[in-house]
Amino acid sequence: MLKIAVPKESDLGELRVALVPDIVARFIKLGFEVLVQSGAGQGAHFTDSAYEAAGATIVNSAKELWESADILLKVAPPGEQEGEEEMNWLKTGATLISFLNPLGNPEQVQALAQRKINAFSMEMIPRTSRAQSMDALSSQANIAGYKAALIASASLPRLFPMMTTAAGTIPPAKVLVIGAGVAGLQAIATARRLGAVVEAFDVRPAVKEEVQSVGAKFIEIPIEEDTATSQGYAKEVGQSTQEKIRQVLTEHIKKSDVVITTAQVQGKRAPLIVTEEMVGEMSSGAVIVDLAAGQGGNCACTEAGKDVYYNGVTIIGPLNLPSTLPVDSSKVYAKNLLTLVKYLVKDGAIDFNFEDDIVSGTCVTYEGEVRNERVKKALATLVQA
Ligand code: NAD
Repeated sequence: MLKIAVPKESDLGELRVALVPDIVARFIKLGFEVLVQSGAGQGAHFTDSAYEAAGATIVNSAKELWESADILLKVAPPGEQEGEEEMNWLKTGATLISFLNPLGNPEQVQALAQRKINAFSMEMIPRTSRAQSMDALSSQANIAGYKAALIASASLPRLFPMMTTAAGTIPPAKVLVIGAGVAGLQAIATARRLGAVVEAFDVRPAVKEEVQSVGAKFIEIPIEEDTATSQGYAKEVGQSTQEKIRQVLTEHIKKSDVVITTAQVQGKRAPLIVTEEMVGEMSSGAVIVDLAAGQGGNCACTEAGKDVYYNGVTIIGPLNLPSTLPVDSSKVYAKNLLTLVKYLVKDGAIDFNFEDDIVSGTCVTYEGEVRNERVKKALATLVQA
């Protein structure tokens, strides 16, 4: 019987947990044994007794839990505890499934390979319809987009919706969303539900209809170069295109009460879209929420994890928003993991079938080797630097 282990996340800011009790029960039904570290669900309000009732065994010691795992399911990349690297507690040949930030921290992937841990990175799930139910980047970005709109409305010194009252009519707030991927579309939908008037821009013209379907106006900027990869991700645009985008957006930013930025290019620093000068032209009281803060920020004034005040404008650079809604972000992440593990396990063992695009895309280390080409490239760049 394969042993699945769920540790308590060691990063203090991480309130999510990899499995919730309902999903533990699903794994038990499928014939897995599930071990959960005592207190693992505390941050997300799932008690040890709820896990026990679902069929899990509660383990007190973190080290013992890691050592027992055939498959260890985690949210954040392995860290340190009691002065020791958590990943060193895994037995040789164990499988780790987690967010691993493999392009940002390829050295850890290399260390996992050296330790002969077979690792799957949740960031690398292909963005295809077949893999949609395993797509943790989407399940978490959706929650981040929602929270970004709430933060913006709570920080704005005026109302989002239009109000017609006996004391006069208040016009709706104007919100601009830059980057209309998963997080951006949810930010648009949430801002609309709160009553704001919303417009949006993305370098991929293909998102125009999606933007319109959630109730926003799409800002059209004719772009000559090809802006999307074959996997549907945005490409880094050239200097002159970025300048053209800035020129058009300046007018829109100036008139906005709120700007929510979510623009990212996989494996690269986030594009700088809102310059200091543009912030300087915004009205006093305006708010920017920069969801790309962790990747360098879309706004020149952003400081990751901080609120910055510039000329009357508040620039908020939140980190790890899904962790601020840990109940639901854990539920959907656990469902992503259930679908992936069910897909990977055949006849009581993980089937490392590298002919399959989900396995080959997601598995970053196998039997002592770093497998993923993009991670290998990131490692080679480090050696050259
Ligand atoms: P992301 O987080 O990588 O980037 C956010 C958005 O920023 C993207 O829409 C991107 O086009 C945009 N962007 C990048 N550079 C920009 C710039 N200079 N100016 C303005 N906008 C810029 O994106 P994501 O939310 O992870 O989605 C990436 C792609 O994957 C999208 O095409 C999405 O529709 C697709 N997707 C597909 C599936 C699926 O088929 N299962 C699931 C999720 C996402």
